[in-house]
Amino acid sequence: MQQTRKSRQRDAILNNLRARCDHPTAMELYLSVREEIPSLSLGTLYRNLKGLCDSGQIIRLSDGGEEHYDACTAPHWHIKCDCCGRFYDLPVSPEAVLAVPIPEYDGEIRDYSLIFFGVCAHCARTAGEK
Ligand SMILES: [Zn+2]
Ligand SMILES: [Zn+2]
Repeated sequence: MQQTRKSRQRDAILNNLRARCDHPTAMELYLSVREEIPSLSLGTLYRNLKGLCDSGQIIRLSDGGEEHYDACTAPHWHIKCDCCGRFYDLPVSPEAVLAVPIPEYDGEIRDYSLIFFGVCAHCARTAGEK
């Protein structure tokens, strides 16, 4: 079956994200996927990222600043490094952290996220060497 150009772009974005674990920003993904698909436009990338988020294939991480993307959709927590600004996975079981029961609420709670802030292992090591 012939793949449409659209689905090829979408797959390239998804595969690129799945092959890495550095929680890239849209711009970092754009530069990387463009090596494979030079005709990719930023608008197309954003459209696809939104579609992939909406369908639950990837997750979007945001602390209010630039958004980062993650193809690991299993529940896990992140730490955001104050030094390099990157998101890293935290090896903590989700249940261990979320000891708070989902509150009763008249509205509708669809999702939740938890981001720790600190210094990543790499930056902590580099600081120690100085
Ligand atoms: Zn860092
Ligand atoms: Zn992650």
